[in-house]
Amino acid sequence: MTFELPKDRVLILDGAMGTMLQRYANSRYIVPDSFNILDSGAVEFIHRQYINAGADVIVTNTFGSNRIRMNECNLDNIEVIKRGIEIARRASCGKYVAQDIGPIGKIVEPNGPIKAEVAYELFKEQFLIGKTEGVDLFLIETMYDINEFEIALYAANEIGLPFMASMTFEEDECTFLGFTIEEMVETAEKYKAIALGANCSTGSKDMIKIAEKILSISKTPVLVKPNAGLPQNIDCSSPYEICEKSFADDIKKMIDMGVKVVGGCCGTTPRYIEKIRKVI
Ligand SMILES: [Zn+2]
Repeated sequence: MTFELPKDRVLILDGAMGTMLQRYANSRYIVPDSFNILDSGAVEFIHRQYINAGADVIVTNTFGSNRIRMNECNLDNIEVIKRGIEIARRASCGKYVAQDIGPIGKIVEPNGPIKAEVAYELFKEQFLIGKTEGVDLFLIETMYDINEFEIALYAANEIGLPFMASMTFEEDECTFLGFTIEEMVETAEKYKAIALGANCSTGSKDMIKIAEKILSISKTPVLVKPNAGLPQNIDCSSPYEICEKSFADDIKKMIDMGVKVVGGCCGTTPRYIEKIRKVI
C-alpha cells in the first residue's frame, strides 16, 4: 500500500542514527553508513529501540550513501543502501521504512563544483535503489543549498513514491548558504512533497520560531526534526544540552501550533522519542 500521512494524528519519526552509532563506536571517528556492511546488528538494534519507543516510521541508515561520498570511503554505495534498507525492513515490525537522503556533501553549481546533471544522477541512483528495494517513502533532509534541494526533489518527484523534504536553518532562519524558509516551502510545494520542514541545526527551543514561520506560509503538512542542542564537549561523548523532557515539551508546543510530523535529529536517542510519544 502507498504510504499516506495519517489524517487524524501526528506522525512520529525516529531519532538520530549517526550520533547513536558514534556513541556506540566510543567517539572513534566512523562513517555511520559503513555500519550497514560492517556491523548491521548495531544498526538493527537502534532501529528496534526506536520502534519500541513508539516511532511510526524508521529511517534507513543511508544519510550519506551517495556514490561520491561512499567512494571516498571506499564503499560500494549500492551495497550500502541495499543493506541499509534490508536492515530497517527486518527491524520494522510492520512500521513504515523511509529511505534517508542527505546532501551530497559537496556544493552544487553555481555555488560549488558539482554539476547539476551529476547531482541529479547521484540522487536518482539512490531513489531508484530505494524504489526497487521497496521503501515506503523518502526523507530528503539536512539540505542547505536550494539548488541541490530542487534537484533532489525533481528526481524524487519522477520516481512516484511519496517523499518528505526538509532543510536545515540556523537561528537567523536562513541556511548556512543564506537560503530562506520561503524558498524551501516554495520548492517543496512545487515538487509536491507530502510534508516539508526543518531538521537538525537548531535545538528544539529555536525550532519553535522556525516552525511558526513555516506554518504561516505552508499549505503542506509541516515536519520538524530538531536536534538535542549542541554536544557539551567537543568529543560528542557527553549528553547534549536539551534534556528529553524539555525536548518533548517543545515538540508538543509545535504540535499544538499545527506541526504534523515530528522526530529527532543529532543527539536524540530512543528516550527522546519515547518522551514525545508520552506527551502527545
Ligand atoms: Zn542532525
